Amino acid sequence: MKYEKVIDLAKRRNIFWPAFEIYGGLSGFYDYGHVGAKIKENILNQFRYLFVNIEGMAVIDSPNINMEEVLEASGHTKVFTDYISYCRVCGEAYRVDEYIKQFDPSYEFNGYDSMVKRMHELGLKCRKCGGDLTEPEKFNLMLSTKVGPGKGKTAYLRPETAQGIFINFLNYLRFYREKLPFGVIQIGKGFRNEIAPRQTLIRLREFNMAEVEVFFDPFDLKWNGNVDIWNDEILLLPNDGNPLNIKLSEAMDKKIIKIQPIAYFIGIVNRFMLNIGIEKNSIRFRQHHPDELAHYSRDCWDCEISTDNGWIEVVGIADRDQYDLKQHSEHSGTSLVFKKKLDTPVRIRKKRYRPKEERLKEYYKDEWKNVYEFLLNSEVMDIEPSYKGIPVCDGCYDIEEYEDLIYTEDIIPAVIEPSFGIDRIILSVLEHSYYEREEKNYKVLKLNPHIAPYKVAIFPLMPKDNLDSVAHEIYRKSSLMGIDCYYDDSGSIGKRYARADEIGVPWAITVDYQTLKDNTVTLRNRDSTNQIRMNYDDALKFIMESVEKWKREWLLNRS
Ligand code: AMP
Repeated sequence: MKYEKVIDLAKRRNIFWPAFEIYGGLSGFYDYGHVGAKIKENILNQFRYLFVNIEGMAVIDSPNINMEEVLEASGHTKVFTDYISYCRVCGEAYRVDEYIKQFDPSYEFNGYDSMVKRMHELGLKCRKCGGDLTEPEKFNLMLSTKVGPGKGKTAYLRPETAQGIFINFLNYLRFYREKLPFGVIQIGKGFRNEIAPRQTLIRLREFNMAEVEVFFDPFDLKWNGNVDIWNDEILLLPNDGNPLNIKLSEAMDKKIIKIQPIAYFIGIVNRFMLNIGIEKNSIRFRQHHPDELAHYSRDCWDCEISTDNGWIEVVGIADRDQYDLKQHSEHSGTSLVFKKKLDTPVRIRKKRYRPKEERLKEYYKDEWKNVYEFLLNSEVMDIEPSYKGIPVCDGCYDIEEYEDLIYTEDIIPAVIEPSFGIDRIILSVLEHSYYEREEKNYKVLKLNPHIAPYKVAIFPLMPKDNLDSVAHEIYRKSSLMGIDCYYDDSGSIGKRYARADEIGVPWAITVDYQTLKDNTVTLRNRDSTNQIRMNYDDALKFIMESVEKWKREWLLNRS
C-alpha cells in the first residue's frame, strides 16, 4: 500500500512521525519535522492566497484556549459527543459507530436505537479480550483545562477555530465598514479528545485546521467570488444516494445544491485541491444525511479524497445558518447583529419621558440634573422608572408619544463555513504524489513545485577544485532571490538526486568543470530526469518563474 510507504518515508525523511516517541508515544499526537513543516506551510500559503488574496477575506488569530461560556453558548459542552462503549472485562474503549463500520462498511449513523440494534446484530465484542461491551453512552470530545491559580476557572482547548471568529463578529463588521457579506479565516490548532485516534494524521487529538467563516445577510445568500468555477464538472454525492458528475451551474439550476455560496465554495475547494496536487478523479463532494449533521449545521457537503484508507473527509462545507451568532447573542447579552438599511424608512410611534425641571429641582436638590439625564435616556416601560433603585418621585415627569422614523433593522447574519483539515490534506497530497521508479527502491514524491519543501538542490559534481565554492555562490544567489534551496555534496551524484527526488525537490543544479569555464550548469528535472545545460542565472530565473506560475495554476485559469 502506498499509504504505508508514505508513512515510512515521512519518518525517514523528516516529514512527520508520532510525537513523544522516546517516552513511548501518546495516541493522536504527531510531530512535523523540518521537511513536513515546510510542506505544511506551503499548503497553508496556498490557502491564504486563495481566501485572503483572491477572495478578499480577513485574518484572525485568536486563543487556543476558549472560555467555558463560549463553548456553552456554541453547544459544544453539551452535544459535542461521540458514542463510546467499554469492554466489561478489560476496560478497552470503542467509538461505537466506527467499530460497527469495521464490520459493516455500509453502516451510517442514524440514531441511537438503530446503532445499538446493529451492534447487537453484529454481536460486537472486545477486539482485545473478547469481553462483552457496555451499552453506548455519550462521551464529550473536548479537552478541558484550568486557567489561573488555585481552583482556577474551567476552560477548554478549542475543538474548532470557528468560535474565535463568531465572537469577534462585531469587530470584523466594523473592519468591513458595516457591510455584508464578508469572510474571516483562521489557521490554527483544533483539539479533540478522540476516542480512537487512527491512521497517523487522519484522526488526531491535536490537529491543524484552516477555517473560513463567511457572514451573509440571510435573505441574500450570494458570494461574488473571483474564480470562475461555474463550468467546472464535479463529482457530487447528494444525500438522495444518486451520485453524478455535473457542472456547478447545472447543479444549482437543478437545485441539487440549493445555496449559491455552498456551490461556489465547492468549486474553489475543488480548484484548491487540484492546485496542491490532488488527482482530478479522486475528489468528490458528499452531502451529509440529515442524521449525520453536526448540531450547528443545516446542510453540509464534505470534500472527500480517495486514498488507500478509502474516501476521507478533508473539508466540510457547512451551512451554519444563524445558529452561532444567535447563541452568542443570547448567552453574552451582546447583540451580534448588523443593521440592514430598509428600502423605505418605517414610521413608528414611540413613548419617551419628559422630565419636569422645576419639580426635579425641588425634590432632588443638587442631584436634579442627574435624574433629568437619567429620564431622558431611559426607555419607557410598563413599570415606573427607578433612579438608583428608588422610583422617581411622583409628578417629576410626563410621558409623551412621538413619531420616529426607522432606517435600519437588526438582522443576525447567516454563516457558510468551509473548514479544512490540513493534516489529512497533507497526507493525501503525499499519497497522491508518491510513486516508485522501475529501479528497485527508487521513491519519488512528484510534489507540485510550489508545495515542494525545496525548489532546487544545488550540487557540486565533487566538493573540490573550486566546484564547491561556485555551488555555494549559486546557493547564496538562489536564497537571496527567495528560492528555497539546499546544498548537498555528500555521496555520489546519483544518490544526491535520489535523496532530492524522495522529498519532492523538483529541480537540481549540478556544478561541473564546464561551469568554471562558462557559468553553465546542468538543470535536472525530477519527473522526466532530463538534464539541460544552461547559464545558472537563467536556471534560477526559470525556477522562480515556474514556482510563481504554479501558485496560480487552477486558481486563475478559466474552465
Ligand atoms: P469538522 O469541524 O468536524 O467538520 O472538521 C473540519 C475538518 O477537520 C474535517 O473535514 C477534517 O478534515 C478535519 N478533522 C476533524 N477531526 C479531525 C481529527 N481528529 N484529526 C485530524 N483531522 C480532523
